Amino acid sequence: MTNETVVVVVEDDPNIADLVELYLRREGFRPYQADSGERALEVIAQRRPSLVLLDIGLPGEIDGIEVCRRLRRDSQVPIVFLTARDDEVDRVLGLELGADDYVTKPFSPRELVARVKAILRRAGARADAAAPGPIDLGGGIVVDRGRREVTVDGEPVALAAREFDLLAHLAENRGLALSRRQLLDGVWGPDWVGDERTVDVHVRQLRKKLGEGLALTTVWGVGYRLD
Ligand code: CA
Repeated sequence: MTNETVVVVVEDDPNIADLVELYLRREGFRPYQADSGERALEVIAQRRPSLVLLDIGLPGEIDGIEVCRRLRRDSQVPIVFLTARDDEVDRVLGLELGADDYVTKPFSPRELVARVKAILRRAGARADAAAPGPIDLGGGIVVDRGRREVTVDGEPVALAAREFDLLAHLAENRGLALSRRQLLDGVWGPDWVGDERTVDVHVRQLRKKLGEGLALTTVWGVGYRLD
């Protein structure tokens, strides 16, 4: 991680935004603030951050969830939601937005920065991994880890970063029943704090996006197996 690591902090509460910015700066990041969804999209397009911290409740037309949706159309930048209430956590998990993590307010800025570093390390490790060859999963589905691309009958399918990682992990462990905990450890990392439902949400997305050809079996009482 260099001093050039840009993080955009999208948060309309100036106290929280300034505090997070302070901690990020202290750790050598280059933070930029945005206090609305509209502003967030501008700043992100301009600064090309390595990570986005994204408040959900924002003034104006575009809330955090909509910002995430728009970013995910063409970007896999890691996104960490800053959520104010449990029902926002449910929305984040339920909407299958492809966020990388979330923290619930009030949060410790120190803990938040630790999470940011962990996510960036994983993203870096993903990018640095030797480019392995494509894996033919049958059913017309090919996953190419080097290109980070999935095709169905030769047509690329847009997956969120975590959906891709989950599929690649299952593909690397074909024929093995993996528990939700094992999948969280392998894909989200052992330091990820969150709910095992997250796995189900991502599996649902994979099934929806890749269709009938995906030989992904629910192993009751355990987790999932890719055949
Ligand atoms: Ca807010």
